[in-house]
Amino acid sequence: MTTSVPVIVRLLASSVSVASRAGKIVRDVMSKGELGIIEKGKDDYQTEADRSAQRCIVASLSALYPKVNIIGEEDSPDNEGDVASDWLVSEADKEVLSLECPANLKGVKEEDIVVWVDPLDGTSEYTQGFLEHVTVLIGISVNEKPVAGVIHQPYYKTMMGTEKIMGRTIWGLQEAGVGGFTLAPPPDSLVITTTRSHSNPLVERALQVMNATQILRVGGAGYKVLQLLEGNASIYVFASPGCKKWDTCAPEAVLSAAGGKLTDILGNFYKYGAAESHPNKTGVLAAVNDELHSYALNRLPQELKDTLANK
Ligand code: AMP
Ligand code: MG
Ligand code: MG
Repeated sequence: MTTSVPVIVRLLASSVSVASRAGKIVRDVMSKGELGIIEKGKDDYQTEADRSAQRCIVASLSALYPKVNIIGEEDSPDNEGDVASDWLVSEADKEVLSLECPANLKGVKEEDIVVWVDPLDGTSEYTQGFLEHVTVLIGISVNEKPVAGVIHQPYYKTMMGTEKIMGRTIWGLQEAGVGGFTLAPPPDSLVITTTRSHSNPLVERALQVMNATQILRVGGAGYKVLQLLEGNASIYVFASPGCKKWDTCAPEAVLSAAGGKLTDILGNFYKYGAAESHPNKTGVLAAVNDELHSYALNRLPQELKDTLANK
């Protein structure tokens, strides 16, 4: 790896390789069948896959980029320490390494970067066998904004002749675009994607006012944003607290690199500085373009926005 490549591009290329290794850990834990489920809070679970994938990602990235501030969902004193050498990834994706770095990011230093890691997004779905909903998320932010991100799907299947390849890695970089999949236009009619395991009356009220032809209930913030990117849905609405910065950083980076927009349900961008609180208290509103984002924002009643803002 040449050091003339700007750090943002190197970090994104490393994150692509690391996410893929973490995805293999997620599959290995499931095949062994010992999930080691812990209840962190109401409707909030952690498994051995969440813990191990996080250790792989944090150990690998912090060895390569010691001054980058990495914040992971499963950060805890119990989940630290040495990791096996085959979990330490030093490779970097060649295609991403050759990307042209946007001019405003060329001078960014390691210490200017905050990385938000969700080692396994969609844990409820993972434990319930909806494996295609599971993603590994690595979001890279600078000056509070998500500028690059990786969404890895450990259970995505591709056939190469008769051989089955597991997993694919989607990435996005501000101004440079997206890769790892084929971007598709939104569906002809209004399809909204939302939570399948964390609904409540507020979430349902926000869905009712959208006048959608279809509601696609899937797990994980990563997988929902993939529904937008692949043309299966045009808007993602979640009018509830519950998502955290590690859920939205990578998806927001990839979506915005593809021309979309992710905010809270008041239309405000979340900030991703290291000192920010973790919860996304005012929900999530994302769309494939500005026009559909404005449509959804205007449909949401003020009283519903006020309820979330004052929670
Ligand atoms: P979902 O859309 O329900 O699949 O959630 C997307 C992400 O936000 C996942 O990482 C969830 O664990 C998290 N999340 C959403 N709502 C809640 C909640 N009520 N409690 C805990 N985590 C939540
Ligand atoms: Mg998550
Ligand atoms: Mg998670």
